[in-house]
Amino acid sequence: MQPSVVRTQTADLYDAHVLKNYARAALTLVRGRGALVWDDEGKQYLDFTSGIAVSALGHCHPHWVAAVQRQAGELIHTSNLFRNPNQAELARRLIGYAGPGRVFFCNSGAEANEALIKLARLHGVQKAGGREGVCYQIICAKQAFHGRTFGGMSATPQEKIQKGFRPLTPGFSFGELNNLESFASLITEQTAAIFVETIQGEGGVHACTPEFLRGLRALCDQHKLLLMLDEVQCGIGRTGAFYAFEHAGIRPDAIGMAKGLGGGFPIGAMWVGEKAADLFHPGSHGTTFGGTPLACAAALAVLDIIEKEHLLEKVRRNCIPWILELKKLATEFPQHLTDVRGYGYLVGLQMSGDPAPYLAALRDAGMLVPSAGGNVIRLLPPLTATPEELEQSVQILRKVFKDRA
Ligand SMILES: *Cc1c(COP(=O)(O)O)cnc(C)c1O
Repeated sequence: MQPSVVRTQTADLYDAHVLKNYARAALTLVRGRGALVWDDEGKQYLDFTSGIAVSALGHCHPHWVAAVQRQAGELIHTSNLFRNPNQAELARRLIGYAGPGRVFFCNSGAEANEALIKLARLHGVQKAGGREGVCYQIICAKQAFHGRTFGGMSATPQEKIQKGFRPLTPGFSFGELNNLESFASLITEQTAAIFVETIQGEGGVHACTPEFLRGLRALCDQHKLLLMLDEVQCGIGRTGAFYAFEHAGIRPDAIGMAKGLGGGFPIGAMWVGEKAADLFHPGSHGTTFGGTPLACAAALAVLDIIEKEHLLEKVRRNCIPWILELKKLATEFPQHLTDVRGYGYLVGLQMSGDPAPYLAALRDAGMLVPSAGGNVIRLLPPLTATPEELEQSVQILRKVFKDRA
């Protein structure tokens, strides 16, 4: 079968049978290796989408592939009615990064956040002396993104995400990011938790400042609130620290993670610090698929490779000249690029207008990147991306900006 026939067939099948909930690029990907992917006509792309920060080790890292293949031939799924050694080991390893506490495994970022929201509810019940429906409110940030489930969507104050789905889950209010006073003014007797992304990804790459995070920590301690951080996108090494909040020198009470954790295999997790770790009890939460031997083998391989290949140090080192080069582009092409916000391998390019034509031009020039809210292009290289690949991304951007004069 000719590749072009595959292309037409795939496009036709999508048109006919796949739900129309995505504005998908007209591109069919069939193979990947490291930071590169190939489409069905053999065209090669530098993949700085990484499946939206998921393929943290690039595509098909040999150690990851071997670990997943080995586990697939051994035992794939057993449910949470029984123990499995990989889940035990992964919990132990994550606690090594997050601190003393407990871990719950699920399958996605939205599910991790859903568990956090339920944790906040349980904490509120405890805070209110066992009464339900009294202390249940959660303060989130404007421009946040926490996922597409009812809880996550209700914590995501964006019209394009909430439209058509009201009534939402009650109990969410929204403060101005990096404005401690704004968050403080929303706290009432009914508040159970503060819940923010350490770095907003979908909202356009906006980070909590270290001072703001330290301020939130103090507010939560003072008012007996849980500080819950959504590290689904910015965690698992993306900023050059395992968790982005490490840069602020604080520790939250709970963390939601997913995306990069499985290196491409679906897995999510909630870490809960000791203070709140015993709020869940048998029956109070669960999932059929969470923490399977296979998903945990994939995540363990990710952690092994991050550690063995010193990827955190490499991200911290390599990002400095790369972000400097990107900032130079902003001075060369102010008519296109007005700001560069970078934290490790999570970079936002603030464009002067709609990023869509740039995404298409970058695709033609051989690079895949996603957009974000507020006319932002995101650059999400795999953590394994080399200085040469980072430099190549700058050259492709320069060419596209030049051609569009
Ligand atoms: C992607 C994302 C989510 C949702 O994760 P899914 O796996 O798509 O459910 C939640 N929070 C943040 C910060 C994200 O980037």
